[in-house]
Amino acid sequence: MINLYGMEMNKLQKLMVEEGQKPYRAIQLYTWIYEKKAQNFDEMSDISLKFREVLKEKYCLELPKIFLKQESKDGTVKLLVELNDGKKVECVLMRYSYGNAVCVSSQVGCNMGCSFCSSGLLGKQRNLLPEEMMGQVLLINKLLKEEGKGERVTHIVVMGTGEPFDNYDNVMDFIRILNHPKGLAIGARHITVSTCGIIEGIHKYAREGLQTNLAISLHAPNNELRNKLMKINKAYPLEVLLPAVKEYETISGRRVTYEYLLIDHVNDTEECAKELIKLIKGTMGYVNLIPYNETDKNDYHRSSGNRVHAFLDYLTKGGVTATIRKEFGSDIDAACGQLRAKVEDNGK
Ligand code: SAH
Repeated sequence: MINLYGMEMNKLQKLMVEEGQKPYRAIQLYTWIYEKKAQNFDEMSDISLKFREVLKEKYCLELPKIFLKQESKDGTVKLLVELNDGKKVECVLMRYSYGNAVCVSSQVGCNMGCSFCSSGLLGKQRNLLPEEMMGQVLLINKLLKEEGKGERVTHIVVMGTGEPFDNYDNVMDFIRILNHPKGLAIGARHITVSTCGIIEGIHKYAREGLQTNLAISLHAPNNELRNKLMKINKAYPLEVLLPAVKEYETISGRRVTYEYLLIDHVNDTEECAKELIKLIKGTMGYVNLIPYNETDKNDYHRSSGNRVHAFLDYLTKGGVTATIRKEFGSDIDAACGQLRAKVEDNGK
């Protein structure tokens, strides 16, 4: 069965032509799925009965199941979603003043093996399909609809479990469905993909002609420290990563965000701030500082509020634009693979 939630418009048009239909069938289907929110083919009254039978036979509209739902006092919702094969991934709804953002997972587990991150503890089990990423967003949209306040998902960050550029094609299909005017119609500028620095991905992403955003998980201002925190740095060290980012900015005309975790006395020193300024100053990039979310799987600790603010001050005085990331759901396991890690641990 082909799950229509995973079909990007061009592919769906091709498929419809292969079915002996006109390409506009694809637009009709998108309208039924995303505008009229049809749950099954019987509702699609302007499609002939005969073709509806074909659709029912070969195609489906299937969402993942909600395995677990946690809601924080600040309204943040975290879902542990169960896929067709029983595997589970997390997604998070964050309510900003400017809209509703969903943090989407792109893989079951992750192979990048960053030493501070819980998502990679179990390795990568598989890539997510476009429909499984769409499923996360559509489930959150359903929850928002049930709240009855007329709200919907307005922003997407592909920053959940997984490395999006290790699942490049599926992530791009997902983005195209989100962004399509007859799809979820989420503006490109409201969509952000975050990578640990896979160069081939950055290279391709620059050439997609999309106005979406790119975030780079930097986390260290020199190779020695970055090698310790992120093993991807051994394959793509800073002298390769930074020129690739520069090229991305030139081609796409978009500024990147550098994400920089603050881990107590590991990467939050004055020396690190100075090195970071040297790296970033004069580029178009800006820095998003993320106070580390502690887990019991390692010995890293969150920098104190004072150290976080001191780091921000150094950067600002050094001429680098930086902000501290707003935190959500600190009373639930909202951070970075923690809920899944917990459930899978208990299941062992
Ligand atoms: N693989 C991609 C996207 C997923 S990780 C990437 O590396 O960008 C999303 C972000 O969460 C990354 O910046 C990652 O470094 C960060 N992160 C991982 N574990 C964290 C933790 N315990 N606390 C805070 N941020 C964390």
